[in-house]
Amino acid sequence: MTSPNSTLPGLAGHPHFHYQNGILHAEGVALDALASQLGTPLYVYSRAALAQAWRTYSDAIGTRPVLVCYGMKANSNLAVLKEFARLGAGFDIVSGGELKRVLAAGGNPAKVVFSGVGKQAWEMRAALEAGVKCFNVESQAELQCLSDVAQSMGQRARVSLRVNPDVDAQTHPYISTGLKENKFGIAIESALDAYRTAAALPGLEIVGVDCHIGSQLTDISPYFDALEKLLDLIEQLDAAGIAIQHLDLGGGLGIRYTDEIPPSPKALLDQVFERLQARGMAHLHLVLEPGRSLVGNAGVLLTTVQYLKHAQARNFAIVDAAMNDLLRPALYDAYHGVQPVAPRDGAAIEYDIVGPVCESADWLARQRKLALQAGDVLALESAGAYAMVMASNYNTRARAAEVMVDGSRHYIVRQRETLDDLLRGESTLP
Ligand SMILES: *Cc1c(COP(=O)(O)O)cnc(C)c1O
Repeated sequence: MTSPNSTLPGLAGHPHFHYQNGILHAEGVALDALASQLGTPLYVYSRAALAQAWRTYSDAIGTRPVLVCYGMKANSNLAVLKEFARLGAGFDIVSGGELKRVLAAGGNPAKVVFSGVGKQAWEMRAALEAGVKCFNVESQAELQCLSDVAQSMGQRARVSLRVNPDVDAQTHPYISTGLKENKFGIAIESALDAYRTAAALPGLEIVGVDCHIGSQLTDISPYFDALEKLLDLIEQLDAAGIAIQHLDLGGGLGIRYTDEIPPSPKALLDQVFERLQARGMAHLHLVLEPGRSLVGNAGVLLTTVQYLKHAQARNFAIVDAAMNDLLRPALYDAYHGVQPVAPRDGAAIEYDIVGPVCESADWLARQRKLALQAGDVLALESAGAYAMVMASNYNTRARAAEVMVDGSRHYIVRQRETLDDLLRGESTLP
């Protein structure tokens, strides 16, 4: 963590958020001025940070056959999608709504993979009409349904089966997805059978094998536990006459929230290709579905201190952002760094940063040493991923605006909701 009293170099893990003349900036934009102009809470993203995160993947890939499908549930703002589409990304979608966003942002449907345990028939139809690259199918029942839908359209749907390799991703239980007890995927022991079912269905064409073992992985060894099991499966499929073209290893690379040292895409890819070579499977194309690692540290959430409350056991800084704007602390006990936008002199004391929502779970950060006064603007770090996308209207709170900074300019990429927006669509009885 950067101490606000030190030389103020920048935020941990955020390459494009730094202090200049004592004020936190996103690229060339001073965040105190932005907060007073646009109000808070406010999500602020850096275009250069998105591009830099993308480059960690594209540089690591080089000329190897890898398609990066941005796991867009992490941040699905159209401006973010458009940036990644421009950079050449594909997209990993989990709903018909996300498909609509990809198409609206000019994404290439031929680079879209469709994941998720509960795809509905209308979503399958929309994806087939758009011409997506592949469906990542998660159950036998879904295979049957997809085959029927595709057949009714005179098509064959390209499929991978999402295999659950039963590996421990050593991450928070809510974001661990590759264990037997999770709802995701088809157990590795049943995968061969499921592939045989798929091969016999007239509306399907088998193209790949897929897995996604969890999120915020800070160690790459779980990927290799999964990889060996998937390569074993691909050998068995080959022997059964089922040819596999691509291997999708999902998303999950972690980011630095505090002091984590997450593995780089290069470390992951170099070792994956080494294993593919060693096992004579260098013909396989690879798909990755990173979400968090492309956007997490490209954004902050600005919030203003409303009141300081010095209670018996704790000091509280009550701010205008809440769990409806940033759910991760309440949901996962997650850590987000907190930095004052304009650090002030004075004794720092320990605060819990809490919102106005009527829930004890409505906290954003705990026990942070800060020198604060009412009216100060704070930046909650690492708010580019799983922040705005999880926002709700709980307590009839309007969702915050989103801004993209590009050099010294900023663009409002999502208007702040109004209270009228919230009441629209409701009616009382006659
Ligand atoms: C959430 C998700 C991703 C993205 O995960 P990150 O941890 O954000 O990289 C990729 N694939 C699937 C299937 C997902 O559910």
